[in-house]
Amino acid sequence: MNIFKKTTMIGIGLIGSSIARALKKKRLSKKICIFSQTNKTLNKARKLKLGDFYTNNLEKSVQNSDLVIICTPISAYKKILNRISKNLMQGAILTDVGSTKSTVVDTFLKIKKPNFNILPAHPIAGTEKSGPESGFAELFNNRWCVITPMGRNDNKSLNKLKNLWNKLGSKVQIMNATEHDKILAITSHVPHLISYSIVSSTLASNSKQKSQIIKFSAGGLRDFTRIASSDPVMWRDIFLNNKSNLLKITKNFEKSLNLIKKYIKTNNEKKLKEIFSNTKKIRKLIEKEKQI
Ligand code: NAP
Repeated sequence: MNIFKKTTMIGIGLIGSSIARALKKKRLSKKICIFSQTNKTLNKARKLKLGDFYTNNLEKSVQNSDLVIICTPISAYKKILNRISKNLMQGAILTDVGSTKSTVVDTFLKIKKPNFNILPAHPIAGTEKSGPESGFAELFNNRWCVITPMGRNDNKSLNKLKNLWNKLGSKVQIMNATEHDKILAITSHVPHLISYSIVSSTLASNSKQKSQIIKFSAGGLRDFTRIASSDPVMWRDIFLNNKSNLLKITKNFEKSLNLIKKYIKTNNEKKLKEIFSNTKKIRKLIEKEKQI
């Protein structure tokens, strides 16, 4: 039943704790070692019984692990890799869950002559919540996990990681990092950018108006505030690591916004109805794919 003998989770927030919970529930790893940089998070993980060992010693955490999963913000990767690379077991799998992949692959490529297999990955699953208390074992059910191999790994390791994600409940897609970042800019990063902008613009109102906005917040604003309450550090890192795609897709959004503004100004009923009917179809397609 166990695919791995010892899994080390580096970072135990929403994603790390969801993986740890699912590993335990489905008995996919004989032992689970949990690293977190702060004792506060480590204690939470201990209370929730997410692993078998708990440590804030990064170098030691990865010793004798055949699977190491980095589940921290992307800006922490360089420091983490500098500290763990020499301690990783020969033949181990080193993977991650970071939401952008091109700069992550570049960071991994800087590891000199690794004797372990590096397989960057991104589970397209999550919520706006953070921390070990927010995770749940079913988070990955019927979601996609994208793996972006770097050409250095052996097929056996790739198959092992694919098998793991399947067992965690996900469908697996192999993709190159560039393509991944282009697609995710459209499906995730720009929608977050727009949500942050819309919610920020409500802050510009005067205080009386602001209290009314909060009091009468309708479904529209509420849905955007959910997305815009996502972790600030994580999203800062995502925007800065997928800069060119994000700026390019934002231009398309601006074009579309200007078009809708034009049709409103000119009372173009036909065009407005046409746009809104097309967007309704997109929602139906996502529902049909069972990704809602
Ligand atoms: P989270 O709940 O905020 O947890 C972050 C974890 O990383 C915590 O254990 C934290 O430890 C640790 N950490 C933070 N800064 C660190 C640093 N400088 N050095 C070492 N450890 C550090 O975050 P998350 O939502 O699980 O996201 C983790 C990763 O998953 C990110 O790369 C994100 O892009 C990716 N991801 C997120 C989602 C999502 O919806 N949230 C979906 C897919 C992928 P302490 O608490 O001890 O500081």
